[in-house]
Amino acid sequence: MRLLIMGAPGAGKGTQAKLITEKYNIPHISSGDIFRQEIKDNTKDGQLANKYIIKGQLVPDDLTISVISKRLQKEDCNHGFLLDGFPRTIKQAHALDQLLAKLNLKLDLVINLNVSKDLIIKRLSGRRVCLKCGATYNLNTNPPKKEGICDRCGDTIILRDDDKEETVKMRLDVYENQTKPLIKYYSDQKILVHVDGNLNFRDTFKEVVKFIGDLDGKH
Ligand code: ADP
Ligand code: ZN
Repeated sequence: MRLLIMGAPGAGKGTQAKLITEKYNIPHISSGDIFRQEIKDNTKDGQLANKYIIKGQLVPDDLTISVISKRLQKEDCNHGFLLDGFPRTIKQAHALDQLLAKLNLKLDLVINLNVSKDLIIKRLSGRRVCLKCGATYNLNTNPPKKEGICDRCGDTIILRDDDKEETVKMRLDVYENQTKPLIKYYSDQKILVHVDGNLNFRDTFKEVVKFIGDLDGKH
């Protein structure tokens, strides 16, 4: 099962991705998480990526593609994976198609989460993340049990630097200009489905599961 989840920043990709990968037992490949880990480890790639991330810009395609290609060729991806946050440009989508073709694989399903702009802004300002385990929370809709503490691993949760208001606006522009064209790209490949991301995360997940279930039947 090779899946991809797309949507604007704040659409709830990360939350759905966690639910999907737990239910179907496949690795969650999040380009954002990989970059944040590299930054934490203070690697060369991390330092370079951070220059763009803090400004709300995309990390250059070459670096992003190389990081993800390496990850997808690890053994745990042999039986499937869920991509989250990659590809984000047409160039990255081409690179992914080429890589998968080389490995004799293809994507089964692209899930596009649709969310209204108002809700996106509301969600991002309330979003908190755990840098240790990658869990995400929302102070308004999905707070942790204990204030400021990750339910999963007990680390402190924080507002990401790039979730600050100015950076959010920039990320939304980047999404409109560079990532939205992928909807047509995958719709032309006939593997795209739309899911309503305005619902609460459990109802959205039910929709997602329906589409993935249909996929099972086809295999
Ligand atoms: P969100 O989905 O909420 O925007 P992510 O965690 O996916 O956040 O990404 C955070 C930042 O990491 C992005 O704003 C961007 O700078 C960088 N990034 C993540 N994935 C990619 C990608 N595929 N291409 C370029 N930059 C990326
Ligand atoms: Zn945690």
